[in-house]
Amino acid sequence: MSRVTLAIIGGGLVGASLALALQAGAKARGWKIVLIEPFAPGHAWQPSYDARSSALSFGSRQIYQRLGRWQEISQRAEPIKQIHVSDRGRFSTARLSASEEGVPALGYVVENAWLGQCLWQGLDKDVVSWRCPAQVTRMEPQEGGYRLTLDDETLLECDLAVLADGGRSGLREQLGVGVRHRPYDQSALIANITPGEAHDGMAFERFTDDGPMALLPLPENRCALVWTRQGMDAQRLADLDERSFLSELQSVFGYRLGALKQVGVRHLYPLALVEAEEQVRPHLAILGNAAHSLHPIAGQGFNLSLRDAQALADALLDSESAPGDFAVLQAYRERQRMDQVLTVGFSDQVTRLFSSRLPLVSVARNLGLLGLDALPPAKRWFARQAMGLGTRPDV
Ligand SMILES: Cc1cc2nc3c(=O)[nH]c(=O)nc-3n(C[C@H](O)[C@H](O)[C@H](O)COP(=O)(O)OP(=O)(O)OC[C@H]3O[C@@H](n4cnc5c(N)ncnc54)[C@H](O)[C@@H]3O)c2cc1C
Repeated sequence: MSRVTLAIIGGGLVGASLALALQAGAKARGWKIVLIEPFAPGHAWQPSYDARSSALSFGSRQIYQRLGRWQEISQRAEPIKQIHVSDRGRFSTARLSASEEGVPALGYVVENAWLGQCLWQGLDKDVVSWRCPAQVTRMEPQEGGYRLTLDDETLLECDLAVLADGGRSGLREQLGVGVRHRPYDQSALIANITPGEAHDGMAFERFTDDGPMALLPLPENRCALVWTRQGMDAQRLADLDERSFLSELQSVFGYRLGALKQVGVRHLYPLALVEAEEQVRPHLAILGNAAHSLHPIAGQGFNLSLRDAQALADALLDSESAPGDFAVLQAYRERQRMDQVLTVGFSDQVTRLFSSRLPLVSVARNLGLLGLDALPPAKRWFARQAMGLGTRPDV
């Protein structure tokens, strides 16, 4: 049986980012890290590296700069120069712009497959060893750490186990970690779209009575669509032929980007707000979607998890204690608590407010959008939340 300092279970975007954030400090301390992942990056079935794109906040760019990966990621990252927020059938809109905020971009849209590749390529194999393809089937706490059983029956011991195995984590349940689960009764339909006109770095958030949609700019003048509808309706849209799909999308989105020309493969994701009731135990930390899984419309889920990963790496490396020390893990949890409460709350409230068909709520959001455009402090607050800088006064 082999023993490592840290075992990261799940090499998705969050697990791989944590390994990157730890590796330089780990090398100096002689720590050994193992990253366990069932699918090699680029494999069609890996949940993180599917056809999805992620809107990275300006704060996430700063983290990847610090980790030395931004230069490579930015080669295929489309800067968001403006965000246009509108409510279908009502006259209110709000515009947020990078120049007004004094930043080069409000965020960046990156295809998950590219981001995953950049992260894995940045790993230092002298410090981070990969077990891939491999899957953890069992986790047992023991004196001074955890014992992991892999699907090939090998056993591995570690001082600290980091569970980053995604929102449908079976291991979380196996450990008896409860979850708060609030379904949105919605699914997200995602696909890449080719618009008729240049997107010029404009991202669109559009709220409709049937659910919110986002159209984000991608390289090569494509757009990443995230269209949220009730489950059955999302399935109906996914099953439409290309021409009927584009025509329905056009009628909801309008002609802001000209006549929509092409749609790629469509995927559906059922949506719920899921929060683990515990994120740390002695010798255990739960990260990423396994800790909190958010509605995608506000584009906050991965950005929040990246801040968590960086904060956990900082807490472990700043401490004199061995990784796995409960006091260090609790200090990490305390440090991130407010960021998580604000980000989860922002994302959930925006989703519920903008998905409601109640007339009073529609009036309120119409006034809200008008107010947002008219009141610079409110707009600035909203822009900072959307950029993932909301709870970080330092940047
Ligand atoms: C439609 C959609 C759009 C989104 N858009 C955005 C956005 O624009 N911006 C944003 O910030 N967030 C966005 N998100 C959220 C973002 O995708 C997630 O926050 C992110 O994928 C979470 O990554 P993760 O690594 O925690 O989990 P996952 O991506 O699920 O990765 C978990 C990994 O663990 C592996 N694994 C599973 N079980 C085991 C096991 N037993 N042993 C070993 N490994 C295992 C899996 O193979 C996988 O690679 C979006 C989400 C959706 C659904």
